[in-house]
Amino acid sequence: MQLKCSHCSKMFAENKDAALAGVYAIHTEGLNHYDATCVHCQRSVRVSDEQMKETYPNWEEEYKEMMARADEFEKKQAELEKLASANKGKPKKEKKKRKRKR
Ligand SMILES: [Zn+2]
Repeated sequence: MQLKCSHCSKMFAENKDAALAGVYAIHTEGLNHYDATCVHCQRSVRVSDEQMKETYPNWEEEYKEMMARADEFEKKQAELEKLASANKGKPKKEKKKRKRKR
């Protein structure tokens, strides 16, 4: 989402995943705003819950999708790690000796 910083008045884009997590926090924790961080001055910019929900009217579904994506990513990551550790178990005989010519 595009936001205008209330401190330095510059426009910046807030990461969608972070924003969705923010709406989720608003919803579950009863907050009335979301703190985005301005990329220009690193200060926090308040975004009201109304504005967040207006920007992401289907945030609940999008949030679920995002979590599903994260789950898939973690599963893939775990598989890759398994493969990596399986490869580590095999002894590798590979010695590289560099001959230096002077
Ligand atoms: Zn700023």
